[in-house]
Amino acid sequence: MNKFALLLILSLAIFACQTTAQKDKPNNKKELVYGLAIHGGAGNLVKGKISDSLEQAYLAKLKEATEVGYAVLESNGSSLDAVVAAIEILENSPLFNAGKGAVFTHEGKNELDASIMNGSNLQAGAVAGVSRIKNPIKAARAVMEKSKHVMLSGKGAEEFAASVGLDTVSPTYFFTQKRFESLQRAISAEKHGTVGVVCLDKKGNLAAGTSTGGMTNKKFGRIGDSPIIGAGTYADENCAVSCTGHGEYFIRYAVAYDVAAQIKYAQKSLKQATEEIINTKLKNAGGSGGLIAMDKDGNISMPFNTSGMFRAFKTNQKETQAFIFD
Ligand code: ASP
Repeated sequence: MNKFALLLILSLAIFACQTTAQKDKPNNKKELVYGLAIHGGAGNLVKGKISDSLEQAYLAKLKEATEVGYAVLESNGSSLDAVVAAIEILENSPLFNAGKGAVFTHEGKNELDASIMNGSNLQAGAVAGVSRIKNPIKAARAVMEKSKHVMLSGKGAEEFAASVGLDTVSPTYFFTQKRFESLQRAISAEKHGTVGVVCLDKKGNLAAGTSTGGMTNKKFGRIGDSPIIGAGTYADENCAVSCTGHGEYFIRYAVAYDVAAQIKYAQKSLKQATEEIINTKLKNAGGSGGLIAMDKDGNISMPFNTSGMFRAFKTNQKETQAFIFD
């Protein structure tokens, strides 16, 4: 081998080493994004149909929940902690169809469903058809962290929640006559108001949670999409999704998982995937509703095919904003 050939091989080797080193170097330029998005249900929400004061009350509660969740992230809390903190605020408010304020079954009871998922390890937990757990989202998290199961239902779920020290209440806790009647009138036939949160924390971990009273007048122990992982809630390393709407359609179309699958396998953007599912697939099938989703880069998408959806978001790059109508 002559000198020139040796020199050429050496320079090629040095060049190759440099390119690999560049690739391995973390992308310092990419800004850290963290934050969360919230929904409070989608439905027939038209401006003027709810009073100004009720509209303000909804917006204020959505902002409060968003800011409580954001504060958790700000102080280095996990996306799971933020999801639970924000949903707890909404569950404790009679404005939404989750926790206190949940809709009534055909038999005049409140049967609540909730689920949560950790996008970093695909752990998940859910409760369905519970009437005595004050904050079903906390029970869903306990199922994920303190049991070997993913979903518990009815009395068994209530016993489990009590056994891990969660607050249990009399079923009448969920009923507030005055609030209930005024809300019934205000929101008319469409009794939506399921709540959900998607979140990205400072470590880049995504999480999603959903909590609901289900659909008004439900019978025979009907369970919707909200406690079903892959239907109403899903999170993986790429995105977190929480849905609201006519649950039967969200189950049949595996909506929350479909968003994740479109991103993972079809390389769609968050916006493309979510818009297509809500405004094409689901709409063509007659399924009304919407979803909120966040991806690992902090993008947020909140499509709905109804006239309105209670929603809000905040990230370290965007101030709190809340909306109801289109
Ligand atoms: N998706 C919920 C259910 O079907 C209801 C809702 O989001 O309004 O139970």
